[in-house]
Amino acid sequence: KQLMLPEPVAIIGAGLTGKSCFNLLSAVGIQCQVFDERKILPQHFSENPDMVALGPFEAKTFAEFATILVSPGVDLRRACFVNAVAKIITDIELFGRLTTRPVIGVTGSNGKSSVVSMLHLATQQQGLDYLLCGNIGVPVLAALQGSDDQCDGYIVELSSYHLERAPSLHLAIGTWLNVSPDHLDRYDSYADYVATKAKIFAQADYCVANAADSNVLDYAQKYNNVVYFSGERNRMIPATYHCEADMIYAGQQALFDMANFSQVGLHHAENIMAVFAMAKRLKIRDAAVVAACQQFVPLPSRSVTVGKKDGVLFINDSKGTNVGAAVAAIRGIDAPIILIAGGQGKGQDFSPLKQVCKNHAKHVLLMGEDAPLLATVLQGSVAISRVNDLNEAVSTAIRIAVPGDVVLLSPACASFDMFSSYLARGDLFEKIVREWIDA
Ligand code: ADP
Repeated sequence: KQLMLPEPVAIIGAGLTGKSCFNLLSAVGIQCQVFDERKILPQHFSENPDMVALGPFEAKTFAEFATILVSPGVDLRRACFVNAVAKIITDIELFGRLTTRPVIGVTGSNGKSSVVSMLHLATQQQGLDYLLCGNIGVPVLAALQGSDDQCDGYIVELSSYHLERAPSLHLAIGTWLNVSPDHLDRYDSYADYVATKAKIFAQADYCVANAADSNVLDYAQKYNNVVYFSGERNRMIPATYHCEADMIYAGQQALFDMANFSQVGLHHAENIMAVFAMAKRLKIRDAAVVAACQQFVPLPSRSVTVGKKDGVLFINDSKGTNVGAAVAAIRGIDAPIILIAGGQGKGQDFSPLKQVCKNHAKHVLLMGEDAPLLATVLQGSVAISRVNDLNEAVSTAIRIAVPGDVVLLSPACASFDMFSSYLARGDLFEKIVREWIDA
């Protein structure tokens, strides 16, 4: 399909998404200029430095452009965009307009990357050529460029930002895994965040929904093309995919024994049920899904076992950047936990952590910007110590731990107060732990 956009185009954000927009537009000769607030030019633009204007965004600059193409990291409520709202478009919207292939979309506060990766493996097992893209690291327009007529379709990880403005994105399957408070700094309310995620159902031919998540269920019930999965029994909605005693079923048929999966916890069973449901719709054999789940290697910093010493197990779940993920990680562990948490709380309500810490944790070590807030919430339900950094957190954990304990890094917070990313935080944790194990 032909790309048509009013020119000139301002591309906001010189990250990977901005680069994919720039590549696509320049390939068809559309006049564009990239803007970024960073002081230093990102490396992937080093061949086209003149195309990027660095410095604070200003409304009057954008007034000169006919289209404003924004990256998902940019908050559209900012004053500099107020008068440009009608001209704003996103890479996901462009992708929706341009692709001729089926698009499978997956959203949720947690589990997206794991689910799209497993589904991708299942398509490969079946001999299909689906491209994995979106929030997982390959921008959708980079996947699309040059490949649209060759692939069988796309598996797209969609964040709430991606769903904000993409009315032309038409999904063959739209899957919503769960929702819990996150990114509240980017939305006026939690209801707004939930409603943004819910767009995934409105734009899909076929929906896959978590019946055990009341927000997801509320929205799903408005549609009749929905297949449900649920990690809990006795729901009002009988879920086609359910899990009992670690066995995943579709109706009466046993599909997968969670004992054959490398990670523990009901949330992984939920993710796998979502994969089965999507695979069924794509006519992928159950055996291909089983093989994919067995082949799946946990993504970095997502409940990864680092090692064991003196009977103490160390788990890196640095990607537990919100309360929902941390709660799932803690619940998934059947042993006394020494939890390392804290960082930037993004305005979240930490109270759901209270009960799970009371039930599963013997000690919580708090670090980072929002440690005081967490301490206030957890006070009285579990032993708490404040630590200055990850080194001190690990050494304290080692001192407290007895054989049979698990030391879990699942911060419930973003990392940017102390690290460049959750990956840097997780990598440092693993390094400190390995040095201790090898010593
Ligand atoms: P996302 O791409 O949505 O951030 P990931 O697969 O990267 O999801 O996992 C992010 C975090 O959420 C990890 O800490 C992981 O252990 C946890 N997690 C994974 N699946 C779920 C789920 N279904 N419910 C809650 N937490 C989950």
